[in-house]
Amino acid sequence: MTITACYPGSFDPMTRGHLDLVERGLRLFDHLVVAIGVNGEKASLFSLEEREGLIRAEVAQFGDRVEVATFDGLVVDFCKARGVGVLLRGLRTVSDFESEMAMAFTNRRLASEIETVFMMPSEDYAFVSSRLIKEIVRAGGSVSDFVPPHVERALANRLGD
Ligand code: ADP
Repeated sequence: MTITACYPGSFDPMTRGHLDLVERGLRLFDHLVVAIGVNGEKASLFSLEEREGLIRAEVAQFGDRVEVATFDGLVVDFCKARGVGVLLRGLRTVSDFESEMAMAFTNRRLASEIETVFMMPSEDYAFVSSRLIKEIVRAGGSVSDFVPPHVERALANRLGD
């Protein structure tokens, strides 16, 4: 039996923390679908297509074990449509836990056949978030330790002056 997990998020943009989680996920699951959600509440810096391209360039190293997709609406509906039974999410800090727990319980209520699995990144990335990365770049700092080089270039092009 092969197991596919869906790793959903905004990925605006993908960081080394996200990538760390993909690598860890591949230790547990045969296939991962990195699923970029359309989040009406969060204004994104990069378009869906741009985020998809940035992720694709990075996960190409994993071959066909990692797929990149976009979805609009509920992630559980996306999973059901593809027959995916596992949601992978990252836990960095205690503050993540509260919102992730609420989301996991909600998703379970919506689709009881789908299990949410949490993984913790390397402590090197425990404080890395897409939001923080954008703030650092806006303030003129270097984010080379936190994002892949092509993401750093994309950030500089978009936010640099
Ligand atoms: P969302 O808007 O769904 O939180 P994000 O792109 O911010 O989208 O995060 C997607 C998933 O990746 C979440 O489960 C989040 O906890 C996880 N994640 C984000 N950054 C990191 C990181 N540095 N280390 C581990 N997991 C992370």
